[in-house]
Amino acid sequence: MIKDIPNSDEYKDVAIECLIQAYNNIYNVDNTLNNETPREEIWEYNQIVLRTAIVLIHQGLEGLMKSEICKKTPLLLIDRKRSDWKTLPDSADESFSEMNTIGGDDLLRTFFACVNTKKIDTNFLSHYEEIRIKRNKIVHGIGTEKLTPEYILILILNSFTYLLGKDSFWDAVSSKFYSHPGFKYEDSDIEWEDMIHYNRMEYLNLFIGKKELKKHFSTDITAREYLCPFCIEKAEMITEDGLKYPDSKWAFLNPNKPDSTNMSCIVCGTDFGIIREDCEKTNCKGNVKYLLEDDDTTETWVCLTCWNEEIKNT
Ligand SMILES: [Zn+2]
Ligand SMILES: [Zn+2]
Repeated sequence: MIKDIPNSDEYKDVAIECLIQAYNNIYNVDNTLNNETPREEIWEYNQIVLRTAIVLIHQGLEGLMKSEICKKTPLLLIDRKRSDWKTLPDSADESFSEMNTIGGDDLLRTFFACVNTKKIDTNFLSHYEEIRIKRNKIVHGIGTEKLTPEYILILILNSFTYLLGKDSFWDAVSSKFYSHPGFKYEDSDIEWEDMIHYNRMEYLNLFIGKKELKKHFSTDITAREYLCPFCIEKAEMITEDGLKYPDSKWAFLNPNKPDSTNMSCIVCGTDFGIIREDCEKTNCKGNVKYLLEDDDTTETWVCLTCWNEEIKNT
C-alpha cells in the first residue's frame, strides 16, 4: 500500500505560499526605497529577487495543477511505471513522499485530463510555458535576461486569476497578512501595519495601474470610487501633522447602479449599507453617506467622497 497520500489542499496551500512570497519579496524591495536612489538602479541591483520570483511562480503553478489532479486521485502524480509499483500483498508499505512526482509536460497533460478545460483561462497554457522556459534558464544558470518588477507582478496576478479566479490574489494576500501571529499578541508594530496592508493595493495601483488590476477583481474598480469607513477606522493614525487616514478610494457601489444602497470595499472586503443623499459641503458632488455614529439624540453621517461629517438631530 502507498501511505501518507497528500490531499488537494496541501498542494494548494504550499502553492499559494510560493506565489505570495514572490509578491512580498518584490513589494519589500520597493517599500524600502527612499527618494534618493533611482528605482531602476535598485532593481538592477536586486535582479536576483525577480529571478527567484520566477522560480517561486513556477513552483506555485505546478502546485496548483497538482492540487487539481489530487481532486481525482493523487496516485496520478506518481512518476513510476505501474509495473514497478511495490503494492502487491508481499511488498512493504511505501510512503508517497519518498516517490518522485510528475512535472513539466506530463504534469500539464495530466492536469488537463482532470479539469474541465472550459473553466481554465485560455491564456494559461502560454503563461505556464513562458514561466517554465524562463525558470529553466534561471536554474541552469543561463538566465541573464533583465526582468522588471512590473512584469513579474503581472505574472503573479495572472497565475492566481487563471487558475483560482478573480479576487483570489487579494484574498490570499489578505489572509496571509492577517494570520500573522503578531495580531494575536497585539504586537503594535504589526497592528500599525494595517496601513501597510492598505498600501499594498496602492502599490499595485501605482506600478501596474487600475486597467491591469481590474482584470483580477470581480468588482469593476474603474467605476466611481469612494472612501471606506472601515479601512479609515482601522488604519487612521495620529501624526505630528494631525489625524491621517487612508485617503484613496477602494470602495464601490455594489451593484454599480444609480440607486444602489450597498457598497463593497475591495481592500478590507467589507460590505456595508449607505444612503444616497447630496453632500452639504460646497464643491463636493458626492451623494453617498455612511452612518458613522448613532446615539440617543444625534446621528453622525459622513460623506464617502470628501469625509465631511454632518451631525443630525434625531
Ligand atoms: Zn475597506
Ligand atoms: Zn462630500
